[in-house]
Amino acid sequence: MKKGLGILGREQRQARGLKKTVKAMWDRVPLYRSRMEDMGMSPEMVSSVEDLQRLPFMTKDDLRDSYPMGLLACERDEVVRVHASSGTTGKPTVVAYTKGDITAWEECMKNCLATAGVTRGDVFQVILGYGLFTGALGFHYGAEGLGAMVVPTGGGFTERQLMLMEDLGTTVFTSTPSYALHLCEEIKDKGTRERLRLRLAILGGESWTEEMRERIEGELGVIAVDSYGLSEVIGPGVAMECPERSGLHPDWDHFLFEVVDPVTGRPLPEGEEGELVITSLTKEAMPVIRYRTRDLTRFIPGICGCGREGLRLERIKGRCDDMLIIRGVNVFPSQVEAVLGKIEGLSLHYRLEVFQPNGLKELKVLCEAEGWMDELQREEKESEAVRRLHENLGIRVGFRLLAPGALERSAGKAVRVTKVA
Ligand SMILES: [Zn+2]
Repeated sequence: MKKGLGILGREQRQARGLKKTVKAMWDRVPLYRSRMEDMGMSPEMVSSVEDLQRLPFMTKDDLRDSYPMGLLACERDEVVRVHASSGTTGKPTVVAYTKGDITAWEECMKNCLATAGVTRGDVFQVILGYGLFTGALGFHYGAEGLGAMVVPTGGGFTERQLMLMEDLGTTVFTSTPSYALHLCEEIKDKGTRERLRLRLAILGGESWTEEMRERIEGELGVIAVDSYGLSEVIGPGVAMECPERSGLHPDWDHFLFEVVDPVTGRPLPEGEEGELVITSLTKEAMPVIRYRTRDLTRFIPGICGCGREGLRLERIKGRCDDMLIIRGVNVFPSQVEAVLGKIEGLSLHYRLEVFQPNGLKELKVLCEAEGWMDELQREEKESEAVRRLHENLGIRVGFRLLAPGALERSAGKAVRVTKVA
């Protein structure tokens, strides 16, 4: 990164991007204009990045309520592509891209992949679903743009994934962390690890722990880095870890990042954990201003081991919405995963069942064993898990050990929590 003038230059570019975005939203998106008016704001009142905090927020509900394209800030015929995110709670949210957005997205992806250490000459296997989701195409064009050889296998079909991985000499792959874990198992079963040339795994789409990282790195002999992005903002390409694995490097050229109190929305002092809020600076079709991601993180100050300056983002701990309240105590699935990862003999294929027998919510953790165990070993393992979960979470939760392979494997995001009536 350039120093002195370079940094000044960036701030000016950010301010210009912010002003342009605010003006476009004011002119074209009635929902945002009226929200600005309610706060007594107008585009003329925004002149620098500091003015960001005076602007109203946007949320996922805005996208849902404006389904499919009520938030469009460009002419309809300028849109060259749409994507959509999963509609777990009703309609999906649709996002749109102009030609300029597609170019900017490829730029973001190229920067992120270079940060992760991808270079020309890599064989890059995209193990994410092609189609409406942003993931696969984002990585696809970014890796191609860097000059890597892309293998667009898409999600699922593990046998074929592994065959091509071996035959084409895949060096880098991207998938969800839970699918990477599934690949570990399959490769172990087949005993083919020595024939693979994998060196780097770029994982994202769900939050995962350091324990999960250690397993994947250990079993595949790779460096596993975390990738962050969301379709409402652009897709993947928003922030990426470098091989130092000490926080995500955000793309400050295309976005502004804030961390706010998830309840009050007030910006938090540097280093405090809160909700990540993102503003797009270059998006044309569907820009976002102060978009509340619901993802929990904090800024990490200082210079990264790789030499990059600027604030980093801590790996996402979980989504505000993932938080479970069990017997009155806040529990994140990632906390459970961290405990399971420290118990020998347990796999990281797990599921959480929440049920409400009489008033208070209770939690039961189902987790697969790594290998076969006899009755006595199982009982010992179960009581160890109950004890360690209790120590770490501060509440008593149920635990059941399952046979290896008992839980369904997903090609995309893993289903972690099920609610049992
Ligand atoms: Zn770094």
